[in-house]
Amino acid sequence: MGCSISKGSKKERVVILGSGWAGYGFARTLDPKKYERIMISPRSYFVFTPLLAGTAVGTLEFRATLESVRRLGLDHFHQGWADEVDFARKTIRVEANTSDELGSSTTAKALKAAQDPSSKVDGAQPGKGVMFDVPYDKLVIAVGAYSQTFGIEGVKEHASFLRDVGDARKIRMKVLQNFERAALPTTSAADRKKLLHFAIVGGGPTGIEFAAELHDLVKDDLTRTYPDLIKHVGITVYDVAPKVLPMFDKTLATYAMETFKREGIAVKTEHHLQRIRPDEDCQGCLKLKIQEYGDEEVGAGIVVWSTGLMQNPLVSKLVSKEFETPELGSLRDKGKGKGNVMIQKDARTGGIVTDSHLRVQVIPAESKTNDSKDVPESSSLPDVFTIGDCAVIPGSGLPATAQVASQQATYLAKQLSKGALNDDNNKAAKPFKFRNWGTMTYLGSWTAIHQSSADELKGWAAWVLWRTAYLTKSMSIRNKIMVPVYWATSWLFGRDISRF
Ligand SMILES: Cc1cc2nc3c(=O)[nH]c(=O)nc-3n(C[C@H](O)[C@H](O)[C@H](O)COP(=O)(O)OP(=O)(O)OC[C@H]3O[C@@H](n4cnc5c(N)ncnc54)[C@H](O)[C@@H]3O)c2cc1C
Repeated sequence: MGCSISKGSKKERVVILGSGWAGYGFARTLDPKKYERIMISPRSYFVFTPLLAGTAVGTLEFRATLESVRRLGLDHFHQGWADEVDFARKTIRVEANTSDELGSSTTAKALKAAQDPSSKVDGAQPGKGVMFDVPYDKLVIAVGAYSQTFGIEGVKEHASFLRDVGDARKIRMKVLQNFERAALPTTSAADRKKLLHFAIVGGGPTGIEFAAELHDLVKDDLTRTYPDLIKHVGITVYDVAPKVLPMFDKTLATYAMETFKREGIAVKTEHHLQRIRPDEDCQGCLKLKIQEYGDEEVGAGIVVWSTGLMQNPLVSKLVSKEFETPELGSLRDKGKGKGNVMIQKDARTGGIVTDSHLRVQVIPAESKTNDSKDVPESSSLPDVFTIGDCAVIPGSGLPATAQVASQQATYLAKQLSKGALNDDNNKAAKPFKFRNWGTMTYLGSWTAIHQSSADELKGWAAWVLWRTAYLTKSMSIRNKIMVPVYWATSWLFGRDISRF
């Protein structure tokens, strides 16, 4: 059963898939006088990801990191997943999402569907929502990426992910629940140690920041609430690489490691997790099999998974199908092939290849491979753009970060608002250029590190920069006020450690 939503306006209709850094930023900047703006996303809000680790431990309230897309004054917002795109008919097939929980947290089912490109996107959702079609004149694909589990046994089912606000909420509940379980008079000392061992997999900025925030929670708040339990608490970061925070230079990365060592956070590099399974002898505990420890398993109360990205199932689906559009006659006329075309896929990441104007690239389907490595020539798919974590500009080496996603969003919206990219040759449009504002990571206890081409900062000064930098970016006035208020509240009265 399905239905179709027809076009009503004379303005060109731009449909945006996703409400993250890329989709939300684009919709916010696109000129509403020139275009009808329609957004499709399973969640009705934008989440400010750099502050998620803070919300997971109660430094900040969840709502302070969210912006409702309804406040953008869009022409339409459809809460659902884009399930398929018919590029010939310029139509998107959408499956409605009527459960808020499904759009806001990472589930094992969704990760399973993402790993298998042949599976249907809607296979990720337990109860199938109604299906309907949405037509577009221009399409902006900004569906982001999922967490990569590398096929490691038990990760999908038992690890905790930190990608959205629902994930942060689950982690906060689990941490506090483990403390309550450990406080029971019936819990043995051995089980207390397991329940209060917090394992973090991935030594990138997200994993390191979560470890730091968790340590702050334990040191500043839980020490007072559970003084007898603190001796059992352990925080360990595991990574397969020889060093953590690879994007920082040696001095800053060493400073970070020394800070962690002083605070008692263990960092285990060159450690390979092979399996996570429930501990049958300790309720709520997990057992981690780590290659370097042989058969001896490590007990943990929670495993926060913070490493690797894989493509969104929609992207995997779009890059694996052949299609024909009337507008692509020019591609075939140029002698690049006679049959259908395919979207060009980046060989390394599986993302969608774009040109420097962020237009989706297609290649003749008869090339047999759509890996960008092997395909010399491609053409732009008219009126279809990709931005954010699911987009790859070959040779640019751009990381999957909020900085890149939001700059691409602003660039594309401004170009379209100027009418620049309506010209198929793009003569009027300047290519996208990334401006690196630097990389920052919070290390706990009011210290951070910051690195850019202009300077390097560490300690308290970097922490001040870290706290002010994101506040000035991409937040509504409401949140620019709410975030410092919550920071001040948790500093004065302690973090919120109630479970509800
Ligand atoms: C905890 C955490 C901390 C981070 N910290 C930083 C940082 O400090 N600095 C930094 O630069 N980067 C940071 N990042 C990375 C940054 O958040 C991402 O690079 C950024 O979110 C990418 O933006 P995006 O819009 O491409 O994807 P996302 O923000 O992931 O948004 C994707 C959107 O698409 C929607 N969607 C998914 N599937 C569909 C579908 N089928 N149809 C329609 N919509 C769909 C999703 O619901 C979501 O709204 C962090 C990430 C995390 C998880």
